[in-house]
Amino acid sequence: MAITDKLITLFDKYGFELSHNVICDIEFNLMHNKYVNKHFAFIVDSKTGKVICHDCNVYYKYSFPISQHAEVKTICKYYSNVRSIPRQKKHLIVVKISKTGCLSNSKCCINCVRFIRNNYENLLLKNIYYSIDEETLGCLNRDDLYRKDFCLSKGYSSRMLTNKKH
Ligand SMILES: [Zn+2]
Repeated sequence: MAITDKLITLFDKYGFELSHNVICDIEFNLMHNKYVNKHFAFIVDSKTGKVICHDCNVYYKYSFPISQHAEVKTICKYYSNVRSIPRQKKHLIVVKISKTGCLSNSKCCINCVRFIRNNYENLLLKNIYYSIDEETLGCLNRDDLYRKDFCLSKGYSSRMLTNKKH
């Protein structure tokens, strides 16, 4: 099964809808993006399940920040697309596609969680969904973002280790 078909099936299971345009964009990205793991984030309307905004992670070679995670990039893109935030409730969904074309664990790192917490009210977010495996999305509500443990992403932790050596 193609990865985009897996994604459509998974989204459908939870009542979310990936339009043809969004799928084309993901396919284009998967073809041209050379990163090992690809993360995609989606802001969806909680009532209709339709994608309002989406984007993927990016690594910058020479500028700071060195990488921007998909969830932060998508939220920033959404802000730049709208003049005011529509009053509809929204979910944020984050998925990870591994180099072997599998859907795998995409739980947000602590830095993204902080960013999401700071924008939760403003964006009228309801839940955060993240891929666990091919058939499951984990779900976090606002309280979970304060209660649960979140990891530093590998990029951040290796950079911290590098800093310690100097
Ligand atoms: Zn992150």
